[in-house]
Amino acid sequence: MAVTSQAGMKTYAVSLRSIVLSQTGQDVSKCCSCALCEEITEGAGDVSLSMVMQWILVNDERVLTCHTVWSDEVLREAAHICTNQLDIPAVLRALREEAHRRGLSEGESNG
Ligand code: SF4
Repeated sequence: MAVTSQAGMKTYAVSLRSIVLSQTGQDVSKCCSCALCEEITEGAGDVSLSMVMQWILVNDERVLTCHTVWSDEVLREAAHICTNQLDIPAVLRALREEAHRRGLSEGESNG
């Protein structure tokens, strides 16, 4: 459920980490920022996948609109890349679905 603050920003009762966990079974706190997946986003994304995981953990809504999450190239190449067995494509798809629910798409913010 969304609540609008005095500053006009929407906040959500359920954290992005919980949403990803409940929809995919993936606990992004398993990301150890090893950076072994970084080469995927060097050409196809705007932020690294480890940053995506950190943004989920701190509930930063920028993760829903960044190019990395919406890049089909990243989605394709991220399968089986994670050294900690995170299913990164499942995480990315869950973020896209949550963005749709919040009326957001690539490059937008809800401010
Ligand atoms: S490979 Fe996995 S654990 Fe390493 S930075 Fe990427 S998402 Fe995190």
